[in-house]
Amino acid sequence: MPTASPSAVEPTPELLAELAEASAKLETATPEEIVAWAAERFGNGLTMATAFGPEGCLILSILAQVAPQTYVFNLDTGYQFQATLDLRDRIAEKYGLEVDMLQPELTVPEYEAAHGGPLYQTNPNQCCFDRKIKLLHRGLAGRSAWMSGIRRDQSADRAQSAIVGWDKKFNLVKISPLANATKKDVWARIVKEGVPYNPMHDQGYPSIGCWPCTRAVTDGEADERAGRWSGTAKTECGLHSVEQQGSGI
Ligand code: SF4
Repeated sequence: MPTASPSAVEPTPELLAELAEASAKLETATPEEIVAWAAERFGNGLTMATAFGPEGCLILSILAQVAPQTYVFNLDTGYQFQATLDLRDRIAEKYGLEVDMLQPELTVPEYEAAHGGPLYQTNPNQCCFDRKIKLLHRGLAGRSAWMSGIRRDQSADRAQSAIVGWDKKFNLVKISPLANATKKDVWARIVKEGVPYNPMHDQGYPSIGCWPCTRAVTDGEADERAGRWSGTAKTECGLHSVEQQGSGI
């Protein structure tokens, strides 16, 4: 099991102090200013993993303006909705940004055959590890910093996210340009600026992952991630559980 990705940076006291200071200063910055800071500070060491959620699409639109050379990748588990894959093409067409689709070693049929059936039914943590986390380590290898689209108002776990901090789990700097944005802020920009988004969001799917582990939510469900791994205790695939230090907040 990989532990942390080989990283280009070490969490020295100097770096952690720098990150804390930057995070405090960037608390009042716009997402564009945060992305521009990250691109200038980390250059080619900066990357982003996107699942083409609304926040990711908004950051992609910002990257197209301020740092289009940034390496962006997707964890292409083999279980994504077709609408998600189509969105990748619409983003490429509109912004000229090519997202690298990282795929697991085994195809879905090979993987399910090797485990006697779909692991998402019997052991979703293992399935997420094999088909998401391993790809994430591959995408992050050799990088210094990664951006995420997480917002503090998404869940209690994400409420602790810093704008800039050290990600102990993946061993590199983590930047969350939309940490302070609300769901309303993100959607207002998407609509105003015509950012491509997944049409499933208009069909009762506020949060979209792999099709076996995503369902539409009802009006009575306040948690926008209620439709992910529904009926199990699982709420995260392990990408954005908070394990940060030097957060400055
Ligand atoms: S979200 Fe479901 S299908 Fe996708 S990797 Fe995790 S367990 Fe497997």
